[in-house]
Formats: sequence, C-alpha cells, structure tokens
Amino acid sequence: MQFKTKNDNKIFRLEEKTLTNGVKFPLLKYHQLEELGIVEHCFTTREGGVSQGVLSSLNLSFTRGDDKENVIENYKRLAEALDVEITDFVLSDQTHTTNVRRVYKKDAGCGIVKELPYHDVDGLITNEKGLVLSTFYADCVPLYFVDTVNKAIGLSHSGWRGTVNRMGKATIEAMTKEFGTNPADVVAAVGPSICSACYEVSEDVADEFKKSFAGHENEILTAKADGKYLLDLWKANEIVFLDAGIKKENIAITNICTSCNKDLLFSHRATKGKRGNLGAFMYLK
Ligand SMILES: [Zn+2]
Repeated sequence: MQFKTKNDNKIFRLEEKTLTNGVKFPLLKYHQLEELGIVEHCFTTREGGVSQGVLSSLNLSFTRGDDKENVIENYKRLAEALDVEITDFVLSDQTHTTNVRRVYKKDAGCGIVKELPYHDVDGLITNEKGLVLSTFYADCVPLYFVDTVNKAIGLSHSGWRGTVNRMGKATIEAMTKEFGTNPADVVAAVGPSICSACYEVSEDVADEFKKSFAGHENEILTAKADGKYLLDLWKANEIVFLDAGIKKENIAITNICTSCNKDLLFSHRATKGKRGNLGAFMYLK
C-alpha cells in the first residue's frame, strides 16, 4: 500500500496488522500522537473490510446503502485491530455543525449496538479511558486533540462549513469548559482529507473564507481564471488551531489527500459521491 503524499514529511506510519482471520488490516497512525503514549488512534483506509462495489471494502457508515452485516463485520475487524470491543465505539452524528458533545462510558456502543441518543454532533470529547471516539470522512477534515496534562481527548469533523465556522476552536473551547484544558498542552492533528490542488470551490464559498480568515486569504485561497478558487482546508485548520492557542510544534498536518489517493481512501469529490466512509478513531489508554 503506497500513498501519494504532498511532501516527504514522515508524519504517519502505516500499520498493517494481520487479524486472527488472516486478513491484513492497514491503519494510518500519526507519530506525534503515538509518541504521547496515552492514546490509541487511527485513520482507516478502504482496505481490510467486506463491503462491495463502490463501498469496497472498509465502509464504516450505516447510512450509505451498505448491508448492516457488512458494516458490523467491518467494525469487528477494526475493533480487533485497535484492541477494543465493538461495544466500545461511540459515533458522531455529523451534519456540518460545530456542536461538540462530551461522551461517557454510558454512551459506549452508541451508533452501532444501540441508538444514538443525540443528533447533529460533529465533535466528541471525553476523559474516560477505553471509550473510542468515532468520526467519518470522505474528503472532509478529521481533527484530533489530546490534552496531555488533563488526559482528555477530542475528535472533530471539519468540512468546509466546519472549517469556516472554526470547529477546531469550538472543540478546544469545549475541552477547556469540561476538563480545564489549556490549549498550550494540546497536541493536535489535521487528518487525511482533500488537498488544495483537488479542492475547487465556488466564489460564494471563497467569500465566506475571506470573511472568516481575514488577513489569511492568500494562504488558503488561490483564484483560478474561471472565477473559481482552490481552497486549502489543511492550512485553514492549522490557522484555526494556532488562533485557538495550540503551539505550532504540537500540530501535525496531513500530507495525504483522499482525492489524490482515491483507490486507497474514499473521496467524495473523486467519485462524485459514489463512496463509503473512512473513519478517524481515538481512545485514551
Ligand atoms: Zn489531492
């Protein structure tokens, strides 16, 4: 499995576990998060699951037309690879909001083995061990947060709407309120998602970014001859992190684009919506 990367930074490693059924199960992991020693985390790829066709093979969403049994089997494999049970996951309900919810042990299994008791939640935070925060992607940006002092974590979904509305800052603020998190103690990562070369947006989207990121327009937007723009969501989220008080040296930025790697990762843009969902997962050990 060879990813096309945007630079030579060695920020990820590809872990390829062999499961008890003999299946090779690849996961992307950030060195910077692993080195903390207090969390297990990953970003999934398309490989290692049982889903078919455009959902092939590791689709992790129940809402994309897949057979429920396939998705459950995919989760069982993921659980084994992460050394947890299928009842340990707690899922988001992503609708491009900046709503962040604190979750507890009692929420474990929500979205897989029991109904979600909440809606419109794009970010999850917790300080309870073994509870697997779970969010979903196919070009949108995953944001990982680890408060190394208070031993608390966050995971947030930040597409263009989430980014323009500063989901990263909303997550940090929620962690500060719930756990007393100081942004200076946070290690954060911008996960695999669409790169600026692949992400063309209309003028009205660009205008929203010009407003929200005044002074940074030239860092995140590139005007094209046809009136459209290329948008750099990675840079925009880095700016959000820095504005929220996270230190630059504590931020890892992806160099893997979902669209550039559409055979290995699900990309909404590259497949015109015919795709499954990848997942970002993290728990406190
Ligand atoms: Zn790309």
